[in-house]
Amino acid sequence: MFVSIVKISQLTKKYGDVIAVDNISLEIQEGEIFGLLGPNGAGKTTTINMITGLVSMDRGDIWILGKEIKRSGQEVKKNIGIVPQDIAIYEDLTCLENVMFFASLYGLKGAELKKRAEEALEFTGLLDRAKSFPREFSGGMKRRLNIACAIAHRPKLIIMDEPTIGIDTQSRSHILQSVKLLNEMGSTIIYTSHYMEEVEEICTRVAIMDHGKIIAEGTQDELKSIVTDKNSVWITVSGGMDKISQSRLKEIYGVLSIEIDDGVVKISTSKDVSNLHEIILYFVENDIPIKNIENKTPDLETVFLTLTGRKLRD
Ligand code: ATP
Repeated sequence: MFVSIVKISQLTKKYGDVIAVDNISLEIQEGEIFGLLGPNGAGKTTTINMITGLVSMDRGDIWILGKEIKRSGQEVKKNIGIVPQDIAIYEDLTCLENVMFFASLYGLKGAELKKRAEEALEFTGLLDRAKSFPREFSGGMKRRLNIACAIAHRPKLIIMDEPTIGIDTQSRSHILQSVKLLNEMGSTIIYTSHYMEEVEEICTRVAIMDHGKIIAEGTQDELKSIVTDKNSVWITVSGGMDKISQSRLKEIYGVLSIEIDDGVVKISTSKDVSNLHEIILYFVENDIPIKNIENKTPDLETVFLTLTGRKLRD
């Protein structure tokens, strides 16, 4: 049975004339890594700040674990871990002291507090730096500490607001792995980003936001099927072009069209048919050497572009 972790109904927030969040409704189930994807200014941070109670809502309702936050805000907050976009750590406290401070706000005490804080540091790869001060850290290490501070109390729901902004590739991949692991360990995750590749890598379901509205929502496959019901296979050959018969290739079940461009055979096929085996067999049987095969399925960037006419990032 699905358990609803967050339910949002007709949520709206205005700043003067700017409608930051415009009448959105969403439901996030237990166990999901839910991605909020959108360009800068789309309304992602305002949405999650309303979920965490940091920003008041103008209209609408939010329930967390079945409880309406307007009525039981404090109680539900114990179940949430927040990784804010702007790094929120104390430079004059050690790593361990930082994590212990934030975990203590959620009611952890004594030996249990220290144990959980050390576990969170170990999880984020910072245990050997427990006594170091974050002012000595790289941006990526500060971001990892920011995460450790949010997870030591083992929240059921972890909300991460663009946790990989401005960091090196290694820290970025460490953070993405951590998100997956936290999810496997039982936390539901809300992850905001304007990096399409990150959302594609980790999220089980995605809502695409633009100008305060949710313009599409679903699993990645569902979103991609908005754009096309076709798959594209690009086969680069290293010779034997004269042996390729477009009409013979078109006889393969599911093949819709073929274009040959500078040594690349671009085959468009129906998405519901799996015919890659037959296509490859055609090249093998006709002694046409294959150099490379690419499956050109549409990505979330294509979805965004199709729905808005703009790129996610310019
Ligand atoms: P980013 O990726 O840049 O954080 P975002 O998708 O999180 O973008 P928000 O930060 O929620 O977007 O901003 C949505 C809109 O609301 C923007 O037009 C922004 O300028 C405006 N906005 C956000 N916070 C405030 C505020 N405190 N006062 C005035 N306007 C605000």
